[in-house]
Amino acid sequence: MGLFTKDLKAMNDLFVHQLQDIYYAEKQLVKALPKMAEKAADKQLKQGFLTHLDETKTHVQRLEQVFQMHGAEAKPVDCPAIDGIIEEANEVEDKSVLDAALINAAQAAEHYEITRYGSLIAWAKQLGRNDCASILQKTLDEERATDKKLTTLAVSKIVAEAFLAKHLGGRYQPIGNDFTGSTLKVETGGELVPGLSG
Ligand code: FE
Ligand code: FE
Repeated sequence: MGLFTKDLKAMNDLFVHQLQDIYYAEKQLVKALPKMAEKAADKQLKQGFLTHLDETKTHVQRLEQVFQMHGAEAKPVDCPAIDGIIEEANEVEDKSVLDAALINAAQAAEHYEITRYGSLIAWAKQLGRNDCASILQKTLDEERATDKKLTTLAVSKIVAEAFLAKHLGGRYQPIGNDFTGSTLKVETGGELVPGLSG
């Protein structure tokens, strides 16, 4: 029983620490997303960043709610991983690939968040905090939806380039078999890209 209690304490410490880590990450993203929206050339991408900015502000509030429910201090702890991802988005200078780089950085951030929230939810349940888990789940669902939207946007850009290349002889970066086996469904133009279905 003693060991069990010790294990639970260690799990609780890990849970609180990772809450503080993702709290920092969400706060950094609240600062970064307006800048990313400003830089994005594509209107849909710009709007997508602004929509996710609103959601991200809610993610911060939900974390504060979880801290309060769990009786833990809402204190951000530095997370160099998210700083690095955000920094990468700032490094790109070439305007022609800026949107692609922004999508990539945003997806890296979403994947980071998805990983963290996935573990936090599992740990909350182990600690008997289903109430905290269900709040964190709402955020995880929004991160997943954003990740999907970013993938669709990235693919639609590739399809548009393939269309222009075929019909107008525009520039088109061959992508080889990158989409082979993909389950992505593209409404129009999927046949132009190897591995995509229409
Ligand atoms: Fe978030
Ligand atoms: Fe996010």
